[in-house]
Amino acid sequence: MYAAATDDKPSAVHWAVRMNHRNRTWGFLLLGLICGLTLAQQSADWLAWACLLATYLVYPQLVWQLSRHASAPLQQELRFMQLDAFLCGAWSAALHFPLWVTFTLFISVLMNLTLFRGLRGLAQSAAAWVLGAVLTGLAVGWRFSPDTPAVVTWSTLSAISAFLLITALDNYQRSMRLHQIRQKLKAQEQHLHQQLEEIGALQEQLQTQALRDALTGLYNRHHLHTILTREIERSRRSGQPLSVVLIDVDHFKAINDQWGHLVGDEVLRGIALLLKAQTRLGDWCFRFGGEEFLIVLPDTDALSARHKSEKLLESIRSAPMACTGDTDISITASMGLATYPTTCTNADSLIGNADKALYQAKRLGRNRIQDLLPH
Ligand code: GH3
Ligand code: MG
Ligand code: MG
Repeated sequence: MYAAATDDKPSAVHWAVRMNHRNRTWGFLLLGLICGLTLAQQSADWLAWACLLATYLVYPQLVWQLSRHASAPLQQELRFMQLDAFLCGAWSAALHFPLWVTFTLFISVLMNLTLFRGLRGLAQSAAAWVLGAVLTGLAVGWRFSPDTPAVVTWSTLSAISAFLLITALDNYQRSMRLHQIRQKLKAQEQHLHQQLEEIGALQEQLQTQALRDALTGLYNRHHLHTILTREIERSRRSGQPLSVVLIDVDHFKAINDQWGHLVGDEVLRGIALLLKAQTRLGDWCFRFGGEEFLIVLPDTDALSARHKSEKLLESIRSAPMACTGDTDISITASMGLATYPTTCTNADSLIGNADKALYQAKRLGRNRIQDLLPH
Protein backbone atom coordinates (compact mmCIF):
# COMPACT_ATOMS: atom_id res chain seq x y z
CA MET A 1 0.00 0.00 0.00
CA TYR A 2 1.89 3.01 -1.21
CA ALA A 3 1.52 5.96 -3.49
CA ALA A 4 3.68 7.41 -6.21
CA ALA A 5 5.25 10.80 -5.53
CA THR A 6 8.12 12.74 -7.02
CA ASP A 7 10.99 14.27 -5.11
CA ASP A 8 12.97 17.20 -6.48
CA LYS A 9 15.94 16.91 -4.12
CA PRO A 10 19.14 16.10 -5.99
CA SER A 11 20.54 12.75 -4.96
CA ALA A 12 22.82 10.06 -6.31
CA VAL A 13 19.98 7.50 -5.97
CA HIS A 14 17.30 7.44 -8.68
CA TRP A 15 14.19 9.38 -7.59
CA ALA A 16 11.86 6.44 -8.23
CA VAL A 17 13.98 4.17 -6.03
CA ARG A 18 14.08 6.75 -3.21
CA MET A 19 10.36 7.38 -3.44
CA ASN A 20 9.43 3.70 -3.51
CA HIS A 21 11.74 2.94 -0.60
CA ARG A 22 9.85 5.43 1.57
CA ASN A 23 6.43 4.35 0.32
CA ARG A 24 7.18 0.62 0.40
CA THR A 25 8.61 0.76 3.96
CA TRP A 26 5.50 2.45 5.40
CA GLY A 27 3.00 0.77 3.10
CA PHE A 28 4.30 -2.72 3.84
CA LEU A 29 4.36 -1.96 7.57
CA LEU A 30 0.62 -1.18 7.41
CA LEU A 31 -0.07 -4.24 5.25
CA GLY A 32 2.02 -6.35 7.66
CA LEU A 33 -0.11 -5.13 10.56
CA ILE A 34 -3.41 -6.09 8.97
CA CYS A 35 -2.04 -9.42 7.72
CA GLY A 36 -0.62 -10.00 11.24
CA LEU A 37 -4.02 -9.33 12.77
CA THR A 38 -5.55 -11.89 10.39
CA LEU A 39 -2.80 -14.41 11.19
CA ALA A 40 -3.45 -13.93 14.91
CA GLN A 41 -7.14 -14.67 14.31
CA GLN A 42 -6.14 -17.86 12.46
CA SER A 43 -3.69 -18.99 15.19
CA ALA A 44 -0.93 -19.34 12.61
CA ASP A 45 2.29 -21.27 13.23
CA TRP A 46 5.80 -19.80 13.59
CA LEU A 47 6.60 -20.31 9.88
CA ALA A 48 3.72 -18.05 8.86
CA TRP A 49 4.93 -15.36 11.30
CA ALA A 50 8.49 -15.70 9.99
CA CYS A 51 7.19 -15.26 6.42
CA LEU A 52 5.20 -12.21 7.57
CA LEU A 53 8.29 -10.57 9.08
CA ALA A 54 10.39 -11.43 6.02
CA THR A 55 7.78 -10.01 3.61
CA TYR A 56 6.76 -6.85 5.40
CA LEU A 57 9.90 -5.83 7.30
CA VAL A 58 12.96 -7.35 5.60
CA TYR A 59 11.84 -7.38 1.95
CA PRO A 60 11.38 -3.54 1.56
CA GLN A 61 14.91 -2.92 2.87
CA LEU A 62 16.41 -5.67 0.74
CA VAL A 63 14.91 -4.35 -2.52
CA TRP A 64 16.03 -0.82 -1.58
CA GLN A 65 19.64 -2.03 -1.39
CA LEU A 66 19.33 -3.96 -4.65
CA SER A 67 17.60 -1.16 -6.57
CA ARG A 68 19.86 1.68 -5.48
CA HIS A 69 22.96 -0.15 -6.73
CA ALA A 70 21.36 -1.47 -9.92
CA SER A 71 22.78 -0.33 -13.27
CA ALA A 72 19.24 0.48 -14.50
CA PRO A 73 17.49 1.54 -11.26
CA LEU A 74 14.11 2.43 -12.81
CA GLN A 75 13.81 -0.88 -14.66
CA GLN A 76 14.86 -2.72 -11.53
CA GLU A 77 12.32 -0.81 -9.44
CA LEU A 78 9.53 -1.62 -11.92
CA ARG A 79 10.41 -5.32 -11.65
CA PHE A 80 10.25 -5.07 -7.84
CA MET A 81 6.85 -3.42 -8.08
CA GLN A 82 5.63 -6.50 -9.95
CA LEU A 83 7.19 -8.62 -7.21
CA ASP A 84 5.26 -6.51 -4.65
CA ALA A 85 2.05 -7.46 -6.47
CA PHE A 86 3.09 -11.11 -6.59
CA LEU A 87 3.74 -11.16 -2.81
CA CYS A 88 0.43 -9.45 -2.03
CA GLY A 89 -1.39 -12.02 -4.19
CA ALA A 90 0.47 -14.80 -2.36
CA TRP A 91 -0.50 -13.39 1.05
CA SER A 92 -4.15 -13.09 0.01
CA ALA A 93 -4.18 -16.80 -0.88
CA ALA A 94 -2.20 -17.75 2.22
CA LEU A 95 -4.74 -15.93 4.43
CA HIS A 96 -7.64 -17.63 2.52
CA PHE A 97 -8.85 -14.46 0.83
CA PRO A 98 -10.36 -12.46 3.71
CA LEU A 99 -12.46 -9.87 1.84
CA TRP A 100 -11.17 -6.52 3.12
CA VAL A 101 -7.57 -7.67 3.47
CA THR A 102 -7.60 -9.14 -0.05
CA PHE A 103 -9.15 -5.98 -1.46
CA THR A 104 -6.46 -3.85 0.25
CA LEU A 105 -3.61 -6.12 -0.86
CA PHE A 106 -4.98 -6.05 -4.41
CA ILE A 107 -5.85 -2.40 -4.92
CA SER A 108 -2.76 -0.86 -3.29
CA VAL A 109 -0.19 -2.62 -5.48
CA LEU A 110 -2.32 -2.12 -8.60
CA MET A 111 -2.57 1.59 -7.92
CA ASN A 112 1.15 1.98 -7.47
CA LEU A 113 2.23 0.38 -10.73
CA THR A 114 -0.66 2.10 -12.58
CA LEU A 115 0.64 5.46 -11.35
CA PHE A 116 4.01 4.61 -12.87
CA ARG A 117 3.01 2.88 -16.12
CA GLY A 118 -0.68 3.50 -16.79
CA LEU A 119 -2.74 0.63 -18.22
CA ARG A 120 0.38 -1.42 -18.89
CA GLY A 121 1.27 -1.18 -15.19
CA LEU A 122 -2.28 -2.13 -14.24
CA ALA A 123 -2.16 -5.26 -16.41
CA GLN A 124 1.32 -6.22 -15.20
CA SER A 125 0.51 -5.84 -11.50
CA ALA A 126 -2.85 -7.64 -11.84
CA ALA A 127 -1.11 -10.52 -13.63
CA ALA A 128 1.63 -10.69 -10.96
CA TRP A 129 -0.97 -10.57 -8.18
CA VAL A 130 -3.02 -13.40 -9.72
CA LEU A 131 0.14 -15.48 -10.31
CA GLY A 132 1.16 -15.03 -6.65
CA ALA A 133 -2.33 -16.02 -5.50
CA VAL A 134 -2.55 -19.06 -7.82
CA LEU A 135 0.89 -20.45 -6.99
CA THR A 136 0.32 -20.02 -3.25
CA GLY A 137 -3.16 -21.49 -3.53
CA LEU A 138 -1.70 -24.52 -5.31
CA ALA A 139 1.06 -24.81 -2.69
CA VAL A 140 -0.96 -24.41 0.52
CA GLY A 141 -4.39 -25.45 -0.74
CA TRP A 142 -7.38 -23.36 -1.83
CA ARG A 143 -9.64 -21.98 0.90
CA PHE A 144 -11.98 -19.02 0.73
CA SER A 145 -12.89 -17.33 4.02
CA PRO A 146 -14.06 -13.86 2.94
CA ASP A 147 -15.54 -13.03 6.36
CA THR A 148 -13.18 -11.04 8.51
CA PRO A 149 -13.53 -10.28 12.21
CA ALA A 150 -14.53 -6.71 13.04
CA VAL A 151 -11.08 -5.80 14.35
CA VAL A 152 -9.47 -6.82 11.07
CA THR A 153 -12.15 -5.07 8.99
CA TRP A 154 -11.78 -1.81 10.88
CA SER A 155 -7.98 -1.97 10.85
CA THR A 156 -8.06 -2.58 7.11
CA LEU A 157 -10.47 0.27 6.50
CA SER A 158 -8.24 2.53 8.59
CA ALA A 159 -5.20 1.45 6.58
CA ILE A 160 -6.99 2.11 3.27
CA SER A 161 -8.13 5.51 4.51
CA ALA A 162 -4.59 6.35 5.61
CA PHE A 163 -3.30 5.24 2.23
CA LEU A 164 -5.80 7.36 0.30
CA LEU A 165 -5.21 10.40 2.47
CA ILE A 166 -1.42 10.10 2.22
CA THR A 167 -1.76 9.73 -1.55
CA ALA A 168 -3.94 12.85 -1.69
CA LEU A 169 -1.49 14.83 0.46
CA ASP A 170 1.43 13.61 -1.61
CA ASN A 171 -0.29 14.70 -4.81
CA TYR A 172 -1.22 18.05 -3.31
CA GLN A 173 2.37 18.73 -2.26
CA ARG A 174 3.61 17.58 -5.62
CA SER A 175 1.27 19.89 -7.54
CA MET A 176 2.22 22.81 -5.24
CA ARG A 177 5.89 22.13 -5.88
CA LEU A 178 5.23 21.90 -9.61
CA HIS A 179 3.35 25.18 -9.49
CA GLN A 180 6.26 26.88 -7.69
CA ILE A 181 8.77 25.43 -10.13
CA ARG A 182 6.66 26.63 -13.06
CA GLN A 183 6.47 30.14 -11.58
CA LYS A 184 10.22 30.14 -11.05
CA LEU A 185 10.81 28.94 -14.60
CA LYS A 186 8.49 31.62 -15.94
CA ALA A 187 10.37 34.32 -14.03
CA GLN A 188 13.70 32.93 -15.25
CA GLU A 189 12.38 32.82 -18.81
CA GLN A 190 11.32 36.46 -18.58
CA HIS A 191 14.71 37.39 -17.17
CA LEU A 192 16.42 35.48 -19.97
CA HIS A 193 14.23 37.18 -22.55
CA GLN A 194 15.14 40.57 -21.10
CA GLN A 195 18.83 39.66 -21.14
CA LEU A 196 18.56 38.52 -24.76
CA GLU A 197 16.94 41.82 -25.68
CA GLU A 198 19.72 43.70 -23.91
CA ILE A 199 22.33 41.62 -25.72
CA GLY A 200 20.56 42.32 -29.02
CA ALA A 201 20.56 46.07 -28.32
CA LEU A 202 24.23 45.93 -27.32
CA GLN A 203 25.09 44.04 -30.49
CA GLU A 204 23.27 46.65 -32.54
CA GLN A 205 25.10 49.40 -30.65
CA LEU A 206 28.44 47.67 -31.22
CA GLN A 207 27.66 47.26 -34.88
CA THR A 208 26.79 50.94 -35.17
CA GLN A 209 29.95 51.88 -33.30
CA ALA A 210 31.99 49.72 -35.65
CA LEU A 211 30.51 51.42 -38.72
CA ARG A 212 30.01 54.98 -37.55
CA ASP A 213 32.26 57.82 -36.51
CA ALA A 214 31.55 58.82 -32.91
CA LEU A 215 31.91 62.59 -33.38
CA THR A 216 29.80 63.16 -36.50
CA GLY A 217 27.63 60.04 -36.70
CA LEU A 218 28.68 59.59 -40.35
CA TYR A 219 29.98 56.25 -41.59
CA ASN A 220 33.67 55.77 -40.84
CA ARG A 221 36.54 55.07 -43.19
CA HIS A 222 36.54 51.40 -42.23
CA HIS A 223 33.06 51.02 -43.71
CA LEU A 224 34.00 53.00 -46.85
CA HIS A 225 35.79 50.16 -48.56
CA THR A 226 32.84 47.79 -48.18
CA ILE A 227 30.34 50.31 -49.49
CA LEU A 228 32.50 51.59 -52.33
CA THR A 229 33.32 48.10 -53.57
CA ARG A 230 29.62 47.21 -53.49
CA GLU A 231 28.56 50.39 -55.28
CA ILE A 232 31.25 49.99 -57.97
CA GLU A 233 30.04 46.45 -58.58
CA ARG A 234 26.47 47.70 -58.88
CA SER A 235 27.61 50.46 -61.20
CA ARG A 236 29.49 47.95 -63.35
CA ARG A 237 26.37 45.81 -63.65
CA SER A 238 24.00 48.68 -64.39
CA GLY A 239 26.42 50.57 -66.64
CA GLN A 240 25.73 53.76 -64.70
CA PRO A 241 28.67 55.98 -63.63
CA LEU A 242 29.53 56.62 -59.99
CA SER A 243 31.38 59.60 -58.50
CA VAL A 244 33.13 60.34 -55.26
CA VAL A 245 33.80 63.75 -53.71
CA LEU A 246 36.65 64.11 -51.25
CA ILE A 247 36.23 67.21 -49.09
CA ASP A 248 38.91 68.82 -46.91
CA VAL A 249 38.25 71.84 -44.70
CA ASP A 250 40.58 74.72 -45.53
CA HIS A 251 42.89 75.91 -42.78
CA PHE A 252 41.09 73.91 -40.17
CA LYS A 253 44.12 73.91 -37.91
CA ALA A 254 43.72 77.67 -37.62
CA ILE A 255 40.14 77.23 -36.32
CA ASN A 256 41.37 74.85 -33.65
CA ASP A 257 44.21 77.19 -32.77
CA GLN A 258 42.00 80.26 -32.60
CA TRP A 259 38.81 78.87 -31.03
CA GLY A 260 39.88 75.63 -29.44
CA HIS A 261 39.24 71.96 -30.19
CA LEU A 262 35.65 71.95 -28.94
CA VAL A 263 34.69 74.60 -31.44
CA GLY A 264 36.63 72.65 -34.06
CA ASP A 265 34.52 69.60 -33.19
CA GLU A 266 31.36 71.63 -33.53
CA VAL A 267 32.44 72.73 -37.00
CA LEU A 268 33.03 69.10 -37.99
CA ARG A 269 29.57 68.15 -36.70
CA GLY A 270 28.08 71.08 -38.59
CA ILE A 271 29.66 69.93 -41.85
CA ALA A 272 28.38 66.40 -41.26
CA LEU A 273 24.82 67.69 -40.76
CA LEU A 274 25.08 69.75 -43.88
CA LEU A 275 26.35 66.84 -45.95
CA LYS A 276 23.56 64.61 -44.71
CA ALA A 277 20.96 67.27 -45.42
CA GLN A 278 22.22 67.96 -48.94
CA THR A 279 22.63 64.43 -50.23
CA ARG A 280 19.98 62.11 -51.66
CA LEU A 281 18.75 58.86 -50.27
CA GLY A 282 21.19 56.33 -51.68
CA ASP A 283 24.22 58.66 -51.42
CA TRP A 284 26.78 57.74 -48.79
CA CYS A 285 28.58 60.23 -46.48
CA PHE A 286 31.77 59.25 -44.66
CA ARG A 287 34.19 60.94 -42.32
CA PHE A 288 37.36 60.08 -44.18
CA GLY A 289 39.89 61.50 -41.68
CA GLY A 290 40.35 64.37 -39.21
CA GLU A 291 38.73 67.20 -41.19
CA GLU A 292 38.19 65.25 -44.37
CA PHE A 293 34.89 63.89 -45.63
CA LEU A 294 33.99 61.70 -48.58
CA ILE A 295 30.70 61.33 -50.42
CA VAL A 296 29.85 58.42 -52.69
CA LEU A 297 27.31 59.42 -55.35
CA PRO A 298 25.85 56.40 -57.18
CA ASP A 299 24.37 56.93 -60.68
CA THR A 300 26.22 60.25 -60.99
CA ASP A 301 28.56 61.20 -63.84
CA ALA A 302 31.45 63.68 -63.59
CA LEU A 303 29.39 66.65 -64.70
CA SER A 304 26.56 66.01 -62.26
CA ALA A 305 29.11 65.42 -59.51
CA ARG A 306 30.65 68.81 -60.25
CA HIS A 307 27.24 70.51 -60.07
CA LYS A 308 26.47 68.75 -56.84
CA SER A 309 29.86 69.72 -55.40
CA GLU A 310 29.40 73.35 -56.38
CA LYS A 311 26.15 73.48 -54.45
CA LEU A 312 27.79 71.84 -51.48
CA LEU A 313 30.75 74.20 -51.57
CA GLU A 314 28.40 77.13 -51.65
CA SER A 315 26.42 75.81 -48.69
CA ILE A 316 29.61 75.22 -46.70
CA ARG A 317 30.79 78.74 -47.42
CA SER A 318 27.53 80.43 -46.58
CA ALA A 319 26.31 78.50 -43.53
CA PRO A 320 27.91 79.38 -40.18
CA MET A 321 29.34 76.12 -38.92
CA ALA A 322 29.74 77.08 -35.29
CA CYS A 323 29.07 80.02 -33.04
CA THR A 324 31.20 81.41 -30.21
CA GLY A 325 29.71 84.35 -28.37
CA ASP A 326 28.67 86.82 -31.08
CA THR A 327 30.94 85.38 -33.71
CA ASP A 328 29.72 82.98 -36.37
CA ILE A 329 32.46 80.79 -37.71
CA SER A 330 32.44 80.28 -41.44
CA ILE A 331 34.71 78.02 -43.36
CA THR A 332 35.64 77.06 -46.87
CA ALA A 333 36.59 73.70 -48.23
CA SER A 334 38.42 72.16 -51.14
CA MET A 335 37.07 69.21 -53.06
CA GLY A 336 38.56 66.54 -55.30
CA LEU A 337 36.33 64.60 -57.69
CA ALA A 338 36.74 61.23 -59.35
CA THR A 339 34.31 59.19 -61.43
CA TYR A 340 33.98 55.48 -62.21
CA PRO A 341 34.54 54.21 -64.86
CA THR A 342 35.77 57.37 -66.60
CA THR A 343 39.10 57.68 -64.82
CA CYS A 344 39.26 54.79 -62.39
CA THR A 345 38.52 51.09 -62.38
CA ASN A 346 38.36 50.20 -58.69
CA ALA A 347 37.78 51.61 -55.20
CA ASP A 348 41.44 52.33 -54.47
CA SER A 349 42.09 54.17 -57.73
CA LEU A 350 38.84 56.10 -57.32
CA ILE A 351 39.89 57.36 -53.87
CA GLY A 352 43.48 57.88 -55.07
CA ASN A 353 42.33 60.08 -57.95
CA ALA A 354 39.97 62.06 -55.72
CA ASP A 355 42.88 62.62 -53.34
CA LYS A 356 45.16 63.80 -56.18
CA ALA A 357 42.43 66.15 -57.39
CA LEU A 358 42.00 67.49 -53.85
CA TYR A 359 45.73 68.08 -53.61
CA GLN A 360 45.55 70.07 -56.85
CA ALA A 361 42.63 72.09 -55.49
CA LYS A 362 44.70 72.99 -52.44
CA ARG A 363 47.67 73.91 -54.58
CA LEU A 364 45.54 76.10 -56.82
CA GLY A 365 44.44 78.21 -53.85
CA ARG A 366 41.76 76.18 -51.91
CA ASN A 367 38.02 76.93 -51.76
CA ARG A 368 37.47 75.16 -55.06
CA ILE A 369 36.55 71.93 -56.78
CA GLN A 370 39.00 69.95 -58.87
CA ASP A 371 38.87 66.75 -60.85
CA LEU A 372 41.37 64.82 -62.87
CA LEU A 373 39.27 64.77 -65.99
CA PRO A 374 40.93 66.26 -69.06
CA HIS A 375 39.00 69.50 -69.73
P1 GH3 B 1 44.62 72.66 -45.25
O1 GH3 B 1 43.86 73.82 -45.71
O2 GH3 B 1 45.91 72.47 -45.97
O3 GH3 B 1 43.80 71.44 -45.26
O4 GH3 B 1 45.02 72.96 -43.77
P2 GH3 B 1 44.42 72.36 -42.49
O5 GH3 B 1 44.82 73.17 -41.31
O6 GH3 B 1 42.98 72.13 -42.65
O7 GH3 B 1 45.09 70.92 -42.46
P3 GH3 B 1 46.06 70.27 -41.45
O8 GH3 B 1 46.22 68.86 -41.95
O9 GH3 B 1 47.30 71.08 -41.27
O10 GH3 B 1 45.29 70.27 -40.10
C1 GH3 B 1 44.18 69.48 -39.86
C2 GH3 B 1 43.79 69.67 -38.41
O11 GH3 B 1 42.59 69.03 -38.09
C3 GH3 B 1 44.85 69.21 -37.45
C4 GH3 B 1 44.10 68.40 -36.43
O12 GH3 B 1 44.42 68.79 -35.10
C5 GH3 B 1 42.65 68.75 -36.69
N1 GH3 B 1 41.77 67.70 -36.35
C6 GH3 B 1 41.79 66.43 -36.80
N2 GH3 B 1 40.78 65.73 -36.25
C7 GH3 B 1 40.10 66.58 -35.42
C8 GH3 B 1 38.97 66.45 -34.58
O13 GH3 B 1 38.35 65.39 -34.45
N3 GH3 B 1 38.56 67.54 -33.88
C9 GH3 B 1 39.22 68.74 -34.00
N4 GH3 B 1 38.75 69.76 -33.30
N5 GH3 B 1 40.28 68.86 -34.75
C10 GH3 B 1 40.73 67.81 -35.48
MG1 MG C 1 43.37 67.35 -44.22
MG1 MG D 1 42.30 70.85 -44.17
